[in-house]
Amino acid sequence: MAVLVTGGAGYIGSHMAWALLDAGEDVVVIDRLSTGFRWAVPSAARFYFGDVGNRDLLARIFAENDIDAIMHFAGSIVVPESVAHPLEYYDNNTTNTRLLAAAAIDAGIPHFVFSSTAAVYGEQRDDTPVAETASVQPKNPYGQSKLMAEVMLRDAASAHDFRFVALRYFNVAGADPEGRTGLSTEGATHLIKIACEAALGRRSGVEIYGTDYPTLDGTGVRDYIHVSDLVNAHLKALSYLRRGGEALIANCGYGKGYSVLDVLQTVMRVSRQKFEVQYRPRRPGDAASVVANATVARRLLDWTPRHDDLETIVHTALDWEQNLSARKVGDLRALQQRIASAAF
Ligand code: UDP
Repeated sequence: MAVLVTGGAGYIGSHMAWALLDAGEDVVVIDRLSTGFRWAVPSAARFYFGDVGNRDLLARIFAENDIDAIMHFAGSIVVPESVAHPLEYYDNNTTNTRLLAAAAIDAGIPHFVFSSTAAVYGEQRDDTPVAETASVQPKNPYGQSKLMAEVMLRDAASAHDFRFVALRYFNVAGADPEGRTGLSTEGATHLIKIACEAALGRRSGVEIYGTDYPTLDGTGVRDYIHVSDLVNAHLKALSYLRRGGEALIANCGYGKGYSVLDVLQTVMRVSRQKFEVQYRPRRPGDAASVVANATVARRLLDWTPRHDDLETIVHTALDWEQNLSARKVGDLRALQQRIASAAF
């Protein structure tokens, strides 16, 4: 049986494709390459170019491959962009998940692992780690678009032979320790990526969005989770579903919060580079503190994190950022050579 990875050319999806192959699974990837890269898809995975909202393409993929599980990563993830373009987020995250789930049910594919987010929780009144039982009140269209998808999956699972695990990601960061893939998206807005770019001299510095939050140092607090631990939780979710596990929603984080200042200091320490830091107003849609209670993932999915350390996360992110610069220089040289050989 094969696993279909949507968004498998993207940051988390490409790590998933590698992890599935490492685990001996047969992997099929669909990606429209809007933010992902063809080179990020392992060559052992079968690749289909296109949109998960394209029913004909899905029907072809299901006809050509013996798929028993879908891992749905394709989606839009930038909070401020979702505030500016809400309907695009509902289209890409909510409508396309509905289409994909309906196609899976029609094709008799029973297992679905969904990329959800801690943004479904919004601002919580106390700042103890948030559990799945907490109230959901997204502060932005991104979180809302994912929550609506969760609700549809829940109702579909009650009505059909279809079971899902929705994993609510906290702040995913770092890169494959073997250096095979990482966060490559142009213009990525994630704090650790931005700080690594600054440490490598690829941007002039880092802006801190908000210094008046009710946190220890006034900057936003997040639970940063290494991408390899996150994809491992998906492998555990897949085994759980194949064992006959019921529909489940589980947080993925370490249960530890770091402030923006903690992160910037760690990047400076690990990279041994100082960079400029500027203080800016709060970013629209941001919560003060978001930390996971991941007891459900640990107990029901038997998930044990292996990279639970901010320095390790930053190390792998920096290594990847360097690798990416080298890759870009390589791409540029190849292009120059192609132009030169075409000219003469
Ligand atoms: N952040 C920041 N400067 C940046 C990017 C992010 O101060 O250039 C802050 C942001 O306000 C939040 C934290 O860093 O408190 C993590 O933001 P990120 O965009 O990485 O993830 P989010 O939590 O928004 O999903």
